[in-house]
Amino acid sequence: MSQEHRTKSGFETRAIHAGWEPDPSTGAVIPPIFATSTYKQDGVGGLRGGYEYSRSANPTRTALEATVAALEEGERGFAFASGLAAEDTIVRGLLEPGDHVVLPNDAYGGTHRLFDKVETRWGVGQTPAALGDLDAVRAALTDRTRMIWVETPTNPLLGIADIAALADLAHGVGALLVVDNTFASPYLQRPLTLGADVVVHSTTKYVGGHSDVVGGAVVVRDLELAEKVAYHQNAMGAVAGAFESWLTLRGLKTLGVRMEKHCDNAERVVAFLEADERVEHVYYPGLASHPGHEVAARQMDRFGGMVSFRVKGGEERALAVCGAAEVFTLAESLGGIESLIEHPGRMTHASVAGTDLEVPADLVRLSVGIETVDDLLADLDRALG
Ligand SMILES: *Cc1c(COP(=O)(O)O)cnc(C)c1O
Repeated sequence: MSQEHRTKSGFETRAIHAGWEPDPSTGAVIPPIFATSTYKQDGVGGLRGGYEYSRSANPTRTALEATVAALEEGERGFAFASGLAAEDTIVRGLLEPGDHVVLPNDAYGGTHRLFDKVETRWGVGQTPAALGDLDAVRAALTDRTRMIWVETPTNPLLGIADIAALADLAHGVGALLVVDNTFASPYLQRPLTLGADVVVHSTTKYVGGHSDVVGGAVVVRDLELAEKVAYHQNAMGAVAGAFESWLTLRGLKTLGVRMEKHCDNAERVVAFLEADERVEHVYYPGLASHPGHEVAARQMDRFGGMVSFRVKGGEERALAVCGAAEVFTLAESLGGIESLIEHPGRMTHASVAGTDLEVPADLVRLSVGIETVDDLLADLDRALG
């Protein structure tokens, strides 16, 4: 695919073609799993295609990295062994000891733990703030703030942060704006086009999309950041393996059609829950009543496949609903083709019990999959009964 097509063609075309040309020696349409650690040199330093050692670069990983970069409309992409490995690499690769980060006060638990328990020991300070409130973010800034970390929508209450406004705020104080785009995926939201400097993903979720691989990705806006991340990806070594890269790329090619179906099904689930008197409250940024709806409508193409709701009757009822569902599988994680149900208070968010971030005990979170929607509605109807 020419450079022009790589940047100008539609999302689905880029997802399928941007990262790989049919192999010149065999015509292979799909990149092989390059299960090799090293590469023959044609004379000392005579690398073929720049490949030297697979921590530094591997062609299967390159195909994934080029595709993610094309979809996020960034300068360059990088694939990692997990979302958290990607996060650690950009924090320690782009910041210095003594620097300070503003984090969402409802950040993904693993992100919070990484900053709170690991990065602080490397001298990187952090302050949690409610990112939906720009004054709260301003109040959290220090003279050493070099990064504002954004998640939108958030987990599990689907809070929305204004990426463009936060990018202005960050750049005004010489900080980078990093967006964890895991929940929206690049199909629904492209933070780099809204002013963000770095996008990070747990590709374990929508990008891979089939609950069969753990991985992470970073895409950066400019060459200077690309060079720093490339250096640290190799120097720290938390890279995606060839097979994991291949699985992730295989999933990524169908992101567009999957996300449309996730959104269609989630909208039907939301309408069902809103009309059901056994349900107390529904959290979905597509609802006009959602406090972040206007911002979400501006920066997202649709509102995604994640839905949370509170059940009338308290925690016991919420636990019973989770236990009674059959098509929705009771499990952590999200973003796969299969629908999942979980109780954040006892499962994904148990570690924040007793803090300001404690989630309601009657809350249930759904990752709405792409099954036949009538089966999902019937399952919820039965589980609520
Ligand atoms: C899962 C997740 C992560 C962590 O990614 P892993 O692949 O599990 O390391 C980070 N951010 C968000 C929003 C997530 O959902």
